Amino acid sequence: MHQEKQEAQDGRILLYEDYNIRVSSQPNVYGEKFVLRLLKKNENIKNIFDLGFPGTEEDLNKSINKRNSITIIAAPTGEGKTTTLYSFMDYLNKPEINITTIEDPVEIRIKGLNQIEIDNKSSFSGSLRTVLRQDPDIILVGEIRDTETGEIAIQAGQTGHYVLSTIHTIDSVEVITRLRKMGLSDYDISSTLATSISQRLVRRVCPKCKVERKFNDREKKIIEAIGKKYNVDFDTSGITYETPGCKYCNNTGFYDRIGIFEILNITDEIKEEIMTGKSSLEIRKKALEQNYKPLLVDGINKVIQGYTTLEELNKKLLVF
Ligand SMILES: [Zn+2]
Repeated sequence: MHQEKQEAQDGRILLYEDYNIRVSSQPNVYGEKFVLRLLKKNENIKNIFDLGFPGTEEDLNKSINKRNSITIIAAPTGEGKTTTLYSFMDYLNKPEINITTIEDPVEIRIKGLNQIEIDNKSSFSGSLRTVLRQDPDIILVGEIRDTETGEIAIQAGQTGHYVLSTIHTIDSVEVITRLRKMGLSDYDISSTLATSISQRLVRRVCPKCKVERKFNDREKKIIEAIGKKYNVDFDTSGITYETPGCKYCNNTGFYDRIGIFEILNITDEIKEEIMTGKSSLEIRKKALEQNYKPLLVDGINKVIQGYTTLEELNKKLLVF
């Protein structure tokens, strides 16, 4: 980063032993505002189910690794998209399968993968073109940011590859809207998009200071209302936790985080909705009829399973 420049900048601090620090600066009327993101170096890749991915291995296989298709993970910045992608890669990584990744930057090096890092001279779309000539089985494109990348990613999906990527958007249905806004046709989207996954991170209750208690009537009421809305039977007869805080969790009551997920499988019926130009509202309605469960449902499951609390979930998803 340039010290003397009074303009918005993106940069990195590489001095610290265990962390890469991503820095963003923005001049404002008082001076400059900095946002620093800490990324642990050499962090081990976590198993996708340890990250909180709902369902079984069979469900996972239904959602990823289909030839001639694209899987997109959608979430705002800092909600764990990259970590999930790495877990997927690790899961799919086998000696007989050729996987190439195009990343900005390469955050974790995985043995057996061909990892390409974007620099000032290259772009996702340019690198993707080159990669396609090498005909890998699976391609990870760090992010679909522009029309060109979107178009080539779709092409790659249509020509026998399995493509994994991410998009900055709020949920899995909005992925369709974003792709449409980039100028991709309903035909291309419906014929190639196989799965759209969205996620958020919530804090886990601290294992050292958590105190068991029953759900109170207010919480039960809230959870039951959500269950009714989405046709899910939530069992609130179990326990939840108070989070008083201790030294271990720096008096926050929480330690580490867990992902909550929603998975939109693009079934033939959803393809039909996309093909005929239906709005995201209509697509969501159809998906709900077909057992699509929005983020909130997995969030409530994580509360009932004792990973987090309703208050904590509410900070992310506005439950009540
Ligand atoms: Zn604690």
